[in-house]
Amino acid sequence: MPNLLIVGPPGAGKGTQAARIAEALGVPAVSTGDIFRQNIKDRTELGERVSAILDAGEYVPDSLTNELIDDRLAQADAEQGYLLDGYPRTAGQVEFLDGVNLRRGEQLDAVIRLVAETDEVVRRLLARAQEQGRSDDTEEVIRHRLEVYERETAPLIAIFAERGLVVEVDGIGAVDDVTERILAGLAERGIAA
Ligand code: ADP
Repeated sequence: MPNLLIVGPPGAGKGTQAARIAEALGVPAVSTGDIFRQNIKDRTELGERVSAILDAGEYVPDSLTNELIDDRLAQADAEQGYLLDGYPRTAGQVEFLDGVNLRRGEQLDAVIRLVAETDEVVRRLLARAQEQGRSDDTEEVIRHRLEVYERETAPLIAIFAERGLVVEVDGIGAVDDVTERILAGLAERGIAA
């Protein structure tokens, strides 16, 4: 079973596609954003610590995020592989994940890069704000999240490209079509159910 990442700007559709791809390949989709939001909802200690950070559109400190991922990937359902959504987002997180994989005696198999233009992602995030009422989907915070993404996370794609891992997929179009493109791109690398 493969070890996969899905990367792309906020609003590119990572969460939607991650759930579908994970299901098709039989690995768990692990979204750090979803885990943080669940903790905030459940009013856990972690939730209390990260709530204001998410609302501001900033990144949670690596120390907290890395520990969370370490625990999550140690669970039984991730023993045979995983699809990470929203992690790693910083250079420190890339390094930490390399360490986790080394300990598992494994490596990353592919990085799905979902491509979408800024205008389109802002439009989608504002629409989602109306549907879901996510507290970090206001126009000001959206703009800030995109800036943080461009500064901290977009440059990391070069690291994965150097390793020859990147599967680039156009994120614009019908949800089913995008899923098909991703599965086709993975199949080309011998990653299939
Ligand atoms: P999106 O990619 O649409 O902005 P996510 O659900 O992936 O949404 O993330 C929401 C928020 O959760 C981020 O803005 C950040 O505050 C926090 N977060 C999620 N993943 C990470 C991470 N790997 N490192 C630091 N913060 C994170």
